[in-house]
Amino acid sequence: MSTRKAFVSRRVFLENEIIPACIIVDNGKVTSIQPGDGSKISKSDVPEIINVGDQLIMPGVVDCHVHVNEPGRTAWEGYLTATKAAAAGGVTTIVDMPLNSIPSTVTLPAFTTKLSEAAGKCYVDVGFWGGIVPGNQNELVPMLNAGVMGFKCFLIHSGVDEFPHVDRSDLEQAFPILQGTSAVVLFHAEVDCGCGSSTYIEKEPRKYETFLESRPDQMELEAIKLVCELCLKYRVRCHIVHLSTAKALPIIIDARKAGAPLTVETCHHYLSLEAETIPDGATQYKCCPPIRGKSNQDLLWEALKDGHIDMVVSDHSPCTADLKVLDTGDFLCAWGGIASVQLGLSLFWTNCLRHDMTLVDLVQLLCRKTAEMANLGHRKGAIKEGYDADFVVWDPDSTFKVTEKNIHFKNKITPYMGKELKGVVQSTIVQGVTVYDRGDFSEAPRGHFMLNEKNKSQSAL
Ligand SMILES: [Zn+2]
Repeated sequence: MSTRKAFVSRRVFLENEIIPACIIVDNGKVTSIQPGDGSKISKSDVPEIINVGDQLIMPGVVDCHVHVNEPGRTAWEGYLTATKAAAAGGVTTIVDMPLNSIPSTVTLPAFTTKLSEAAGKCYVDVGFWGGIVPGNQNELVPMLNAGVMGFKCFLIHSGVDEFPHVDRSDLEQAFPILQGTSAVVLFHAEVDCGCGSSTYIEKEPRKYETFLESRPDQMELEAIKLVCELCLKYRVRCHIVHLSTAKALPIIIDARKAGAPLTVETCHHYLSLEAETIPDGATQYKCCPPIRGKSNQDLLWEALKDGHIDMVVSDHSPCTADLKVLDTGDFLCAWGGIASVQLGLSLFWTNCLRHDMTLVDLVQLLCRKTAEMANLGHRKGAIKEGYDADFVVWDPDSTFKVTEKNIHFKNKITPYMGKELKGVVQSTIVQGVTVYDRGDFSEAPRGHFMLNEKNKSQSAL
């Protein structure tokens, strides 16, 4: 029997237009796209026709910055819950960070362990980042050949001791090894430059301002200067994760003008939350680098519009309630990380229109550019013949309220609790299979591993 199916809507997002269309899918891939209402399709040719009426069919969101934390810290999150939450939010692919799992993904055996732990637990497609830590340079090419998309590193304490940060000399060892490969190096771009306020510890720890003063813009600026310098020197693809300060943009723009193969992401929390309105003791708002003020946020939106920031991701980084010390509300002791993998599409869309941005921008920033950065641009991030049939079916005009009941990630702690967001996901389709539909999930996890197919390493290692 034919496995062909058709998805039909009066609103299908194709390239840069929304038209009535019928998408024919076979074996998880888009095989053809026909404009119109699909009335010419015969049941014998396509046994299953899914007509969603006026609901928008758009490429699934690709969130290339998610901390799943399994194995090792499964009380914080896990593949089942993280990918259910992703599916419920219209995310069809996540790429998992190499920390805060134990072991962290910094050796080939650790990567193999992660793959076996994640097997059979993923509702959406999942790719993986490896990590660069001091001394693991000989593990990089084996991990790349085994399928990681690239490598994340920190230039400051990562928050967990088993993922130590690197310095310039560690990177000077790693970069030559990665030249000529498909790898991209992701930087948590903050350094401890001794510029944090020395008085902050004596101030009120429940005040957000106390934490903000401890992580000034300068920490990002110094780190980004180093990233740009190394990127220009070695011409290995680099990526700055979670840019928070708009003050770094001139450095980034100059490096790109000079030919640096450099991309930059920012996160939903920097675009939708602002320092001035964070309540005392509300540690669910804590992340590093910190959420800054309103004027900085406006500049980040400007930079998105101007193309100086390439993409927007969640940096979903949950933990258990005790680590957020919500009882004391001490910003200096609380774990830094914001949980939001399920909410990115609606968060971005809620703020998009008042910043003069459109669905075309949204698809570029949340689907297309993220797929390209994570070595998945040849199969994800667009509705196109030959691409994976990964769709989100949603209503951009409806709203919903974030409640514990409708959140699917493990620890239901998020700064967005109780907020009204625009854009309701009806269903999520991963490689042609409906994995989420109006509150229900497919009976079994049906996601796939996305392993790097593009490594062009000539290395003899
Ligand atoms: Zn992160």
